[in-house]
This record gives sequence, C-alpha cells and structure tokens, in this order.
Amino acid sequence: MAKAPEQEHPVKAFGWAARDTSGHLSPFNFSRRSTGDEDVRFKVLYCGICHTDLHNIKNEWGISLYPMVPGHEIVGEVTEVGSKVSKVKEGDKVGVGCMVGACHACESCNSNLENYCPKMILTYGSIYADRTVTYGGYSDTMVANERYIVRFPENLPLDAGAPLLCAGITVYSPLKYFGLAEPGKHVGIVGLGGLGHVGVKFAKAFGAKVTVISTSPSKKDEALKQLGADSFLVSRDPQQMQAAIGTLDGIIDTVSAAHPIVPLLGLLKPHGKLILVGVPEKPLDLHVFPLIMGRKSVAGSGIGGMKETQEMIDFAAKHNITADVEVISMDYVNTAMERLAKNDVRYRFVIDVGNTLAASKD
Ligand SMILES: [Zn+2]
Ligand SMILES: [Zn+2]
Repeated sequence: MAKAPEQEHPVKAFGWAARDTSGHLSPFNFSRRSTGDEDVRFKVLYCGICHTDLHNIKNEWGISLYPMVPGHEIVGEVTEVGSKVSKVKEGDKVGVGCMVGACHACESCNSNLENYCPKMILTYGSIYADRTVTYGGYSDTMVANERYIVRFPENLPLDAGAPLLCAGITVYSPLKYFGLAEPGKHVGIVGLGGLGHVGVKFAKAFGAKVTVISTSPSKKDEALKQLGADSFLVSRDPQQMQAAIGTLDGIIDTVSAAHPIVPLLGLLKPHGKLILVGVPEKPLDLHVFPLIMGRKSVAGSGIGGMKETQEMIDFAAKHNITADVEVISMDYVNTAMERLAKNDVRYRFVIDVGNTLAASKD
C-alpha cells in the first residue's frame, strides 16, 4: 500500500498544496527524501508563481496529481550536500527550476537538453525515480540532484531573480537557438506578462531591437519607458499592424490564451520565425499560405537545459536582469492566483517563503 505523503520519506516538510480542481491552496504536511550522494538540500527562501502553477492546480491540462505542491521558480540557501556533490556547498545560494530529473542517457540529455528528454521529471506533479510524487517550491525545504541545481551569483537578488528559473530561461533559450540574440535583429515579443517582460530585457541585453505586441494600449508606457522596448504595437489596431508588416526577424509569443497568430506571421520578414512559448488550452488557428509566402516558420520552445539555465542566470547577473516582482506572503497565495488569472500583476508574484511560510503553520 502506498504511504501517506507525510510518511514516504524521512525528512519532514511543510508547504501549501492544492487538493482538487478548485485549485484552492492550503497548508500541507509531507516529507522529502534524505540527502543522497549527489543531492543538494536547501532551505527555500523565495518561490515565483508561474502561470503554469495556475493551470496545474486547476488541472486545466488534465494531468494534475493531487495533493499538489506547486512552484518551480525556487531559490534558497544550501543546508546540506551529498558526498559526491562538487557544484555547491552549505550556505550557497541556489535555485531549482522546472525539472528535477531526466534519463541522462538519451541524445537530448547527452546534448545538455534534459528539458527535451522523454523521461524528464518535472519539479512538481511528476513521478520521481523512486515512484513518489514530486513536490514544488511552495514549501520550506527542497532537495534535488545537483545536475538540477543552479548556482545563484552573489549580486543577483533572490526574490527578483527567482522567476528567471522558468520565465527567464523560457525566453532566453529560443532567443539564442533561433538566432535572435544579436545586434541588428528585430525581435517581437507578444504579451507583456511574466515571460514577456523578461523577454524584452534579455532581447535588449543581446543588442536586438525590440517591439512589444500587446492587446492592451495601456502597457505602452511600461514597455517603452520601464522595460526599454524600442516600439509598441497594439495587435487590435489594424492600421498599426499593417504599418509593421514584414519588419520582424522573429517573434517570441508568450500568450497562453487563445489568440490569432496569422496576423503575427504577417509581421515577419521572409525566413522569419514565430516561436510559441505560451500554452493556450485550445489549438491555434494556423493557415499555411502566410508561411509559404516568405518561407516562414512556426516553432515551439520549452524552458532550456541545465547548462543553458546556468548560462542564463550568469548572463542575467552580469547584465542586471531581474523580473519585476510583487513579493507576497504565503497566506496571500490564493488571492494572488485570482489576480494572476486576471493578469493583475506587474509582472510576477514571488512568495516570500523564508519569512512567511512558518507563520501559516498551526
Ligand atoms: Zn513556469
Ligand atoms: Zn534523457
């Protein structure tokens, strides 16, 4: 018989979990494995709230396991390392992003692309190698194989840096892979949320020209003045869209709601690439003709491998790139989820786990 979450492992853990598709989060006692030879254990200090957490706690993709402790933008301080760990030591600041395991033998793993391994194990809501369910960062303690541990440079703030572990790498990786991370390129960023706003910052740091494409004209000032975008397009304004036809080398589309993509294809130069990183619940409407006219492509991209995630964090620290965050206490999380559902956040909620989680235990 399967053991209760509290008794599966030797190390006591406490966090907040969703129990059913209502997605309501509440205090939850569980356990974590003891520190293995290659494991790093750390005290969680901050955890970002990703849009994926919202989808998952409500089982919107139909794959959720309950009880679910979400959170995959996790940072903290190392409290224990296994005997074979060389990457970090006790007291170091570290992070864990979207995954905690993979097969380490396939072509993807051998190319430092654990994120595309067919046996990739997600940080929460996945089944780990020991057959137990993985639990995420809305919790007091975390343990992971050192391969999945990211070193946090001293100058990178932990709270505003946490969202980079998912939002950051999700936009950094396609900018690099699709050849958009260089001066002279003109990049479009669709959607100015958690992903989009760091997308603008990374693209600018790479020296690209950046156009933000959004449905809300109200975000224009923020995009241009706060985030440093070069121009702003209101996607619902046919005149503005018409004037921008054929101007972009690539577009990173971060929108996770249903939206028309054919107008975006029109904005691309010949050979331009539309890269989707948001995950709408329903299929998108794709017409082929706009692709053929200009040899354009539509692609997807999902987070990044661990080597690239470390590279991204080091790049962010060097260029002072962080997310714009609203730091909240643990007991505010359900309200934060409601606000996130309405995109009422500039731009990422980050839970101050280290200072507020214990108080929610009674
Ligand atoms: Zn995420
Ligand atoms: Zn693999």
